[in-house]
Amino acid sequence: MSNETSTFPLNFALTPSTSARAEAAREEILADPGFGKHFTDHMVSIDWTIEEGWHGAHVQPYGPLTLDPAASVLHYGQEIFEGLKAYRHADGSIWTFRPEANALRLQRSARRMALPELSVPDFIESIKQLIAVDGKWVPSAPETSLYLRPFMIANETFLGVRAAHKVGYYLIASPAGAYFAQGVAPVKIWLTTEYSRAGKGGTGSAKCGGNYASSLTAQVEAYENGCAQVLFLDSETHTNVEELGGMNVFFVRKDGKIVTPKLTGTILEGITRESIITLAKDRGLEVEERTVPISEWKEGVASGQITEVFACGTAAVITPIGQLIGANGLAVGNPDAPAGELTMSLRKELTDIQYGRLPDRHGWMVKLDA
Ligand SMILES: *Cc1c(COP(=O)(O)O)cnc(C)c1O
Repeated sequence: MSNETSTFPLNFALTPSTSARAEAAREEILADPGFGKHFTDHMVSIDWTIEEGWHGAHVQPYGPLTLDPAASVLHYGQEIFEGLKAYRHADGSIWTFRPEANALRLQRSARRMALPELSVPDFIESIKQLIAVDGKWVPSAPETSLYLRPFMIANETFLGVRAAHKVGYYLIASPAGAYFAQGVAPVKIWLTTEYSRAGKGGTGSAKCGGNYASSLTAQVEAYENGCAQVLFLDSETHTNVEELGGMNVFFVRKDGKIVTPKLTGTILEGITRESIITLAKDRGLEVEERTVPISEWKEGVASGQITEVFACGTAAVITPIGQLIGANGLAVGNPDAPAGELTMSLRKELTDIQYGRLPDRHGWMVKLDA
């Protein structure tokens, strides 16, 4: 039932928006889009029922969903999502980065959350269909993009507790400005010792809203302490580094090795993380995926064995971490130090590939416009 994939290809119907923004209004938004505030004129929806499987693929005007107050997602949180970007290259063409990896991760998340799996080609086609009508919403200024947010919700009208028999897949898109408009600046991170993001056998490696909901109290604590994000340790021993609320973490050692926590089922398998590992290995650097005790971070920075720390994810690509702070006056690193050299060079290489300024030697880029 829930493991059934869709049968490619679905046929997409199109209902054009009658209230699409005029060029001037769109350009005004694209001049200063921020993040996640503005949405394009259309969205994709695909229905799934236990009887019919995937059907009713539709590109339709962007607008509110009609949900019954008893829709299961509102009560039991059966929801998953993805995040990727559409990039405009210098010749005007529109591309995305490793969408099949997002499609496969959405399938893994679906399996964990007892949701149906959408096929990889249907997932990619949903993006191409949206770009076909809303491609003008992909901005062209440096480091800007159109953020794509596919998601899936249980929308059966039923308060019983079981995997829903009715599900919706949606795709919305939001223009995104340069994440670091004033130049890439190191951030401060809050170490939470009270809260955990994920536990053994839990949903840590699924990209689901519930993981974010449970991270928000710690995120509030981070803001109160002047930090941009939270670092979570493993829930069992509270001694090993896992990840931030929405980004993976890397360490650069003085001996040239790059270290990142290994995937244990409680860490989200970031596509940026995997791409950075590949790019680093291409450069001949040694990459270790292993357990990283928090003591190694503290002592390594103090002794100079760790020279750079950074976080990574689709939204910000690579964010240098300047300082880790926490309870009892914990302060690791210098908040005023500039971003690390390797951090910035990997960031440049990855964004150069994404924006078509470097050859795509791994076949990561997929063209979205016709
Ligand atoms: C999405 C996400 C990431 C980053 O994944 P990317 O594929 O690189 O964008 C890291 N951690 C969590 C918890 C996430 O949800």
